[in-house]
Amino acid sequence: MDQVTRRFDAVSDMSLRGRRLAQLMRRDPSAEGQFWYSVITTGVYCRPTCPARHALPENIRLHETLAEARATGFRPCRRCDPEGASLAQKHDVLIQTACEMLGAEGRAPSSQKVASAVGLSRSHFHKLFRQTTGTTPSAYAKSLRATTARSRPLTARRSFDQVQDIRIVGGGDVRV
Ligand SMILES: [Zn+2]
Repeated sequence: MDQVTRRFDAVSDMSLRGRRLAQLMRRDPSAEGQFWYSVITTGVYCRPTCPARHALPENIRLHETLAEARATGFRPCRRCDPEGASLAQKHDVLIQTACEMLGAEGRAPSSQKVASAVGLSRSHFHKLFRQTTGTTPSAYAKSLRATTARSRPLTARRSFDQVQDIRIVGGGDVRV
């Protein structure tokens, strides 16, 4: 490797670190899963979105993978729980549960009821639901009911197709 290339590599490495440190400082949610970091002064490793107070950049080591962060021998941070599900994943699970409740047979439950079932305040739930699905809980429930009514004949058609497929896969000995 010649001098120039080496210097260029060093610069691009630096800028990657710089970019990541910037993401870390603003707790950028899109950095989640992209890298991890450990703090040499405290001996913990964290997600890039950790809510704890930031360490000095010179004490921060960046890691490409969770395994690499673990290999430091440090302990996982209790605040951001890098070994557990991320906040975004937890939210996804909550919203999925909410969607199931809203889509259940019969009359849709009130969003207050769904919010308390998933352990969120009504306003927080509304905000999160909108962020995740792009719609409100009541509009979602309504559209779901409209779709279910429309898709009934489709479902019947699909199962008919599946029967046909099974026949074809089943071999040539089926007499039709
Ligand atoms: Zn942390």
